[in-house]
Amino acid sequence: MQLLLDLHPDRYPLEGFRQRQLLEWVFVQGVGTFGAMTNLPAEVRADLAARYTLNPFREIETVRSADGSVKYLFTLLDGRQMEAVYMPYLDRKTICVSTMVGCPAKCAFCATGAMGFGRNLTPGEIVGQVLAVAGGEGLAPRELRNLVFMGMGEPLLNYEHTMQAARILLHPQALGMSKRRVTLSTVGLPKGIRRLAAEDDLGIKLAISLHAPDEATRQRIIPTGHRNSIAEIMAAAREYQAVTGRRVTFEYSMLRGVNDHLWQAEELAELLRGLVSHVNLIPMNPWDGSGFESSTEEEIQAFYDVLAGRGVDVSVRRSRGKDAGAACGQLALKRPGAAPAPA
Ligand code: SAH
Repeated sequence: MQLLLDLHPDRYPLEGFRQRQLLEWVFVQGVGTFGAMTNLPAEVRADLAARYTLNPFREIETVRSADGSVKYLFTLLDGRQMEAVYMPYLDRKTICVSTMVGCPAKCAFCATGAMGFGRNLTPGEIVGQVLAVAGGEGLAPRELRNLVFMGMGEPLLNYEHTMQAARILLHPQALGMSKRRVTLSTVGLPKGIRRLAAEDDLGIKLAISLHAPDEATRQRIIPTGHRNSIAEIMAAAREYQAVTGRRVTFEYSMLRGVNDHLWQAEELAELLRGLVSHVNLIPMNPWDGSGFESSTEEEIQAFYDVLAGRGVDVSVRRSRGKDAGAACGQLALKRPGAAPAPA
């Protein structure tokens, strides 16, 4: 049995108008069974059901937050768990999807990092998060128009599957998303960033989790081999911009007394000179045992002021879903037995 969602839409197993009907059922209507595809002949439906599965999940649980965001906890067919977050604010219905169970990058302040690496998700397990969240929210799949690869995992370390998922998201007969509304967030892997720049049929947005302008601080935050030198990351970002013409976003999680000193804001502004960029300051979402706390609102404001004063395009991300543990890997970690086995 193969997961149908793992296939590229052009390779769905029917021909001509039947194939278009099948794609329409899956991505426009968002139906969860072959039996519901009433304009396909019964024998075609039976044949599809004998060879393919539609649902990558064994179980789906949701936790609703007072601010409207919803955490989806998925149990995959092999029993492993990962999550997505739905953020319905204003006219921007956004979904944050995972690309892995756990993560090998092990950023010190990230709850997913503390779980370690479980396994890569398949393209269908990534795209399936969109279909499941739409279904759970009573939306048509295409009503979810903004997507960020910012859930569990490092997308550039699950490169092929993430690219395949992006191609399904953007495909006009699948989810038909605009490349301007799909963002890939990476811990900062120069090789992967260059490879992404070369995917000229994709053109999705790039966000780099820099978190510090100086090596000593960044080493403290990202102690693993997945940390690359800041100089190499910035060179890759400049190359990405030269090739794609796109603005690059830098994420900066505000860790009190670690990376929120004003001299670091000045160094960051220096690093970004000449690059068309945007800096997103993210208050740290605290979790038990992390050993870090968020900078205060005043500290974040002071950091912001230095950047803005130096002409940096900067914003502060308002933290969502805290009461639902909808912040980066927190829910899965709290559940007994949810942690992945070591790789
Ligand atoms: N691995 C990718 C994408 C997943 S993490 C990356 O590193 O970008 C998405 C973003 O959330 C990253 O910027 C990450 O550093 C940040 N993040 C993770 N845990 C956080 C926390 N507890 N508080 C604030 N930001 C966090």
